[in-house]
Amino acid sequence: MNKAFDIAIESLASPGATAPAPSTSTSSPAASPHPRHPNAAPGKSFYLETFGCQMNVHDSEKVSGVLLGRGYRAVESPAEADLVLYNTCSIREKAAQKVFARLGDWKTTSQNKIIGVLGCVAQQEGEEIFERAPWVSLVCGSASYRRLPDLVAELESGGRRVTGLDLDTEETFETEITRRDNPFRAYLTIIEGCDYSCAYCVVPLTRGPERSRPSGSILSEVRRLAAAGYTEIQLLGQTVNSYRDPSAPKLNFVDLLYAVAAVPGIRRVRFTTSHPNDFTREIVQAIDSTPALCDHIHLPVQSGSTPILRAMRRTYTREEYLEKIAWIRAARRPISLTTDIIIGFPGETEIDFAGSLSLLDALQCDGVFSFKYSPRPNTPARDMPDAIPEEEKSRRLAILQEHQRLIQIARNDLLVGSQFEVLVDARHAGRDQWAGRTTSNRVVNFTSPRVNLLGEYVQVRIARAGPNCLVGEHLV
Ligand code: SF4
Repeated sequence: MNKAFDIAIESLASPGATAPAPSTSTSSPAASPHPRHPNAAPGKSFYLETFGCQMNVHDSEKVSGVLLGRGYRAVESPAEADLVLYNTCSIREKAAQKVFARLGDWKTTSQNKIIGVLGCVAQQEGEEIFERAPWVSLVCGSASYRRLPDLVAELESGGRRVTGLDLDTEETFETEITRRDNPFRAYLTIIEGCDYSCAYCVVPLTRGPERSRPSGSILSEVRRLAAAGYTEIQLLGQTVNSYRDPSAPKLNFVDLLYAVAAVPGIRRVRFTTSHPNDFTREIVQAIDSTPALCDHIHLPVQSGSTPILRAMRRTYTREEYLEKIAWIRAARRPISLTTDIIIGFPGETEIDFAGSLSLLDALQCDGVFSFKYSPRPNTPARDMPDAIPEEEKSRRLAILQEHQRLIQIARNDLLVGSQFEVLVDARHAGRDQWAGRTTSNRVVNFTSPRVNLLGEYVQVRIARAGPNCLVGEHLV
């Protein structure tokens, strides 16, 4: 799990958890019948590989919808496809390198194929991608996805190179069709872009300014998803709780949470990722009073040291963050907390690092996503003095992860003997176990005498606990 910004997390599973992340392949469950675009491309096929966070995963679901609507069919491997797309992540250097390695695979074999780069690397590198990989034909950042149908049409009619790199937009990316790859949890982006300017983060540069989606359109989609059988919705945004309805009801984020939770058929509503600055008591009160709002909050802190938070431009202090945690801990309903920490930000001293360790003790999180700082192009932190050597970052990261592992072991041990409702989303045939998640987003692996549980809500008693998951048995 590698992420160092608020666009949450490849998955909110704790590291090492055994339930699967949502599939990013385009091969899984059939989507509903797709109306064809008038200029569709029947017989053409596409392959789309996704890197990075849940926002990217969901963007890919919508991009797939656009292509299916044009008559394309999804195939299992890039070799079979007419159109090969990579939806990329540039949050860490390694992720960006991986994309260029993939593009390199096509250097001598791209004839008769259209190769495209989408997402953050596309936005960041722009037309330079054509220089580095001249066999690429499409480069499109996420803020321009609404233009994708036109860009694809241009390629279909013989265009050699097309780009969508405009960041100056007030629109969000909505599609008539979304190919949802996770049959149990439906992702739904409610806000795109980011108006913060954290010193280490490429998101404002790659995803553009903050744009919220009208509440009417969100709620219609939730109703459609409920009618299609989805019971769990995950609202997405880089700073999801900054949501501001651009349309007449002018719902704020909490109003929207209540409205989504009230849609008949919806049993679980999650949201990620929250920014501490916009995190209010009303969010906690909503969770406390509404069982359908999941009892889990992911609130990235990034450092336990106020001077480092200031250098990161995080807009809050350690004390202000802890004040918000006190609201969460004061709720009547126990709420699970997870966070993100960056290790080795420029200038981080031993004292600052000790502050992050002591913060973990104070927070008692059920999962922490921790990362070594890696400088990214065009970000203010890139040229900051006092860079921390890689070995030192690794040393601190190992210490922090072990510290948190012990916290999780102790916390999960307390859950042995308790009972949870689990939405079953996987089967581990080799271990003869099922897997799923609690409302608090804990991963539970369990045995059952039943033969098919996928998609069901079941009661599980916890018999054992590890740092990253619980193990139990189905209470039939
Ligand atoms: S700039 Fe925005 S997306 Fe990036 S870490 Fe800051 S709040 Fe999160």
